[in-house]
Amino acid sequence: MVATMPSSVPTMECESPHFLMAQRQLDEIAAEMGLPSQLHERLRYPKRSMVVTIPVRMDDGLVKTFTGYRVHHDVALGPAKGGIRFHPEVNLGEVASLAMLMTWKCALMGLPYGGAKGGIRCKPWQMSLGEQERLTRRYTSEIINLLGPDKDIPAPDMYTNEQTMAWIMDTYSINVGHTVPSVVTGKPVSIGGSLGRHEATGRGVAYCARRAVKHHNLNVEQPTVVVQGFGNVGSIAAKQLYSSGYKIVAVSDVHGGIRNEEGLDIPRLMAYMSEFGRVAGFPNSTTISNAELLSTKCDILIPAALGNQLREDNMESLDCKIVVEGANGPTSPEADIYLHEKGVLVVPDILANAGGVTVSYFEWVQGLMQLFWTEQEVNERLEQIMGRACDRVFALSQERTLRPRMAALRLGVSTIAEAKRLRGLYP
Ligand code: GLU
Repeated sequence: MVATMPSSVPTMECESPHFLMAQRQLDEIAAEMGLPSQLHERLRYPKRSMVVTIPVRMDDGLVKTFTGYRVHHDVALGPAKGGIRFHPEVNLGEVASLAMLMTWKCALMGLPYGGAKGGIRCKPWQMSLGEQERLTRRYTSEIINLLGPDKDIPAPDMYTNEQTMAWIMDTYSINVGHTVPSVVTGKPVSIGGSLGRHEATGRGVAYCARRAVKHHNLNVEQPTVVVQGFGNVGSIAAKQLYSSGYKIVAVSDVHGGIRNEEGLDIPRLMAYMSEFGRVAGFPNSTTISNAELLSTKCDILIPAALGNQLREDNMESLDCKIVVEGANGPTSPEADIYLHEKGVLVVPDILANAGGVTVSYFEWVQGLMQLFWTEQEVNERLEQIMGRACDRVFALSQERTLRPRMAALRLGVSTIAEAKRLRGLYP
């Protein structure tokens, strides 16, 4: 059990269970690395948080009001960076904990950014494209003072995409009076996006999976894979691993899961998904529930959907050797410890899904330089950065007998701690 740090900071509105979990992780690693308590305390809370009310005229003519957030956790290394999610469960605590994760993720990958996250509490699947556009534009204008290529650079996250980024870029540009592509990343290539950004998170997840197979000395001819979530991250990770000869035995989306022990034909499944909007009903597959999906025997389990999916109540039913976290926070602290003790290698989110923000960084650099790279250059640089980060995490985890999550966190936190120590405290 990790002692919680005595704090002089009064309870903050962000202190939801989600946020307390992120704090507990930080507390655990701070104790392990002997982080000075004054520095530790500064890192336990976000630097700034903004909560906004967003009135939107709906298609029926009535005005509906939504709540939006943008949180900067730390900006010691550069502008705040992180996605914006649209989901009914978004709240300040969740956004603040995800912003903290972004700080560690960027630092671990060696990117010159601080950590941010944003979100709007809404059900995007019940909204028309026009309603989503008005929601995005009004949210952007409410938080516009936080944004800018050298202040805060949003990107896609759950239920947001290239189109959302294009609206944010346009709204920001109209307000400042000139076009500023570098205010967002993950935008369409035709307006300054980077080749390879759309695939980057899934590609990075697949890369980590292959690296983990080697590190774990998994001596199987054709590793088997289960993927929870068939959105941008899950489908592309599945496609990449399928082309490396791995056997994808089960996948799911919000509507349900499918299984075929002989292996699913992923390119065909992707075509089926874009035609029918779901994986269920795919020829030559059996329909399964989410619980059945997670307990399917496999070498690699990739949770690439929501947070808190592998937890105390289902951890004993998992039957995999490696977990590669495509989603943010899919594993609870109890399950993380349990799996590690059982010998399962858990590649943590801040490493496994960092391909997205890494190529976001490439997009930002290309935009500022006005010099664009080929897709091959993007992918090669991504592999270099991911490879180095994987090696450092696996090595530290062995050297100090830490769970890989704690090793990754230690690398991220120590980078930020050093930056803050050198910059000192103003005034
Ligand atoms: N939303 C992604 C993440 O959680 C990408 C963030 C970014 O590219 O800034 O890492």
